[in-house]
Amino acid sequence: SIQDTVTLHNGVKMPQVGLGVYKVTDDQEVETAVKEALKVGYRSVDTASFYGNEEAVGRAIRDSGVPRETLFITTKVWNDEQGYESTLEAFERSRHKLGLEIIDLYLIHWPIKETFQETWRALEKIYEEGKVRAIGVSNFLPHHLEALLPHSTIVPMVNQVEYHPWLTQLDLHAYCNENHIQLEAWSPLTRGRKLDDPFLLELAKKYGKTPAQIILRWDLQQGVVTIPKSVTPARIQENADIFDFSLTEEDQKKLSELNEERRFGSHPDEIF
Ligand code: NAD
Repeated sequence: SIQDTVTLHNGVKMPQVGLGVYKVTDDQEVETAVKEALKVGYRSVDTASFYGNEEAVGRAIRDSGVPRETLFITTKVWNDEQGYESTLEAFERSRHKLGLEIIDLYLIHWPIKETFQETWRALEKIYEEGKVRAIGVSNFLPHHLEALLPHSTIVPMVNQVEYHPWLTQLDLHAYCNENHIQLEAWSPLTRGRKLDDPFLLELAKKYGKTPAQIILRWDLQQGVVTIPKSVTPARIQENADIFDFSLTEEDQKKLSELNEERRFGSHPDEIF
């Protein structure tokens, strides 16, 4: 079901599907989307200080009446908040805005070359103090992880990256698997840009599902956590309705073969 989980390397369970809320800045729109998602069974929400909607997400989860301990809330430290002390402060701001005592997952949003090591030390401290149930990174390529791991005491539990059939980053995926870092897909639906791909449409017809559902199912079957974004109730529901079918191994493989290392978002080495 939509509440199925994966287990992170520290034993914490994380829902395999969550609601993404990037670029939803209207408070009412955020609250409506989060409430709708919780109503149809989502238990995970992915936000960030950069998205400017932590307060609205916090309000929606409080108003929903869904018990806090059943929810999994992710937020992230933004680029200009990085560094040891300023990350500790950013975390307190996010926690305050969300109105949560404990955050489920706190991520470094992008690998800012000069500061990500210090930022990671701050996340380790926050984790050791029990203010967060899991810590991780986002947009880290193998070379960023190779730089981070030898100097850290905790291996990130999650790496959230752009990931879809046109960008499968096999080397990164293998690196994460070897190090027990859970891969999480952002822009799993390519922001809608590839949903008319002919092969995707063929599979949609074959399985009696929508192109979005085919991609999300492909994520699930590889053990990748996925966080499709929508503010439209029908689509929020549609994106959760992926537990009543499975792709054959062959179709799963053919989808992976669409890979062309194509990014729709920024390249992690081009962020300053
Ligand atoms: P997405 O791939 O989830 O696409 C969302 C868009 O796809 C929607 O705006 C809508 O236009 C369309 N859509 C959604 N459901 C659909 C459906 N069922 N049928 C047809 N069209 C549909 O893109 P995203 O928002 O970029 O990524 C998802 C989430 O990932 C974000 O909201 C955010 O939480 C996270 N994210 C993280 C980073 C990062 O740097 N860590 C970057 C981008 C996004």
